[in-house]
Amino acid sequence: MQNQPSDSSFRSVYRGRIAPTPTGYLHMGHARTFWMAQDRALRQKGTLVFRNEDLDLDRCKPQFVAAMYEDMRWIGLDWQEGPDIGGPYIPYVQSQRREFYLEAWQKLMEQGAIYPCTCSRRDLASAALAPHDGEEADEPVYPGTCRNRLTTEAQRQNPFGVNWRFRVPENEVISFSDNNRAIGARSYISGKDFGDFLIWRRDDVTSYQLAVVVDDAVMKITEVVRGEDLLISTARQILLQRILQLPTPEYFHCPLMRDENGMRLAKRHDALSLRALRKAGKFPEELRTEWSIA
Ligand code: GLU
Repeated sequence: MQNQPSDSSFRSVYRGRIAPTPTGYLHMGHARTFWMAQDRALRQKGTLVFRNEDLDLDRCKPQFVAAMYEDMRWIGLDWQEGPDIGGPYIPYVQSQRREFYLEAWQKLMEQGAIYPCTCSRRDLASAALAPHDGEEADEPVYPGTCRNRLTTEAQRQNPFGVNWRFRVPENEVISFSDNNRAIGARSYISGKDFGDFLIWRRDDVTSYQLAVVVDDAVMKITEVVRGEDLLISTARQILLQRILQLPTPEYFHCPLMRDENGMRLAKRHDALSLRALRKAGKFPEELRTEWSIA
């Protein structure tokens, strides 16, 4: 293990993180969430970790990775651990952390908590159940087609070649309190608000849910600051933490930014990217005032 950053003696135990996925250019919505994460870490004299969530290397293009660093620095973000500066929990790049994820996959597989799923996208589209709460749900509830499928000896050796799903308990209430008082206490019902979710993809890509749970635990994150589009994923991740016997961090979900037509910025790929705003002559201070009041 490497040494702690030199100024760590002045830092509290608070550890937050910013965790962009470089599949496109960062926009104002990302920047505001990251700013909030930085603000919360600074207020608590904590450490901010930067993690590059480039799990899907086909979609995470090098130009987006380079732009991500540049844009984050430009807007005024600063981190104490990360891919560019190192830290005690290297590597801070998800595509280089496969061994950590593999270990967790193995534990889940040995406990029978996950199962191989051979459903195609088409199967899923035609059979999926409507989620309990259409407003918030982010993906249809998996209908359970492969739940009783047995794992072959070859599959037990390696996750590659088949999709692996987490068997969520039926009707379990997952509750957590959000440090954002506007969100407060939340409860989701497994099997209704969300179904059996992916742990590993057949093309050998670890799922976002598994990677984040493993990394937040290994990197000793004490509070996760993220967009409120991930509220249901927080419930999924709490289930995974329990079964893997990992600690549950605190959570702070930020409201999403929308444009004047109510469209989420994440769905727009144009003028509200930090690059485009910078090109248009905007200054970081100017942009920051837009979200400090929100
Ligand atoms: N990398 C994820 C994203 O960009 C966010 C991760 C998280 O907050 O858990 O949407």
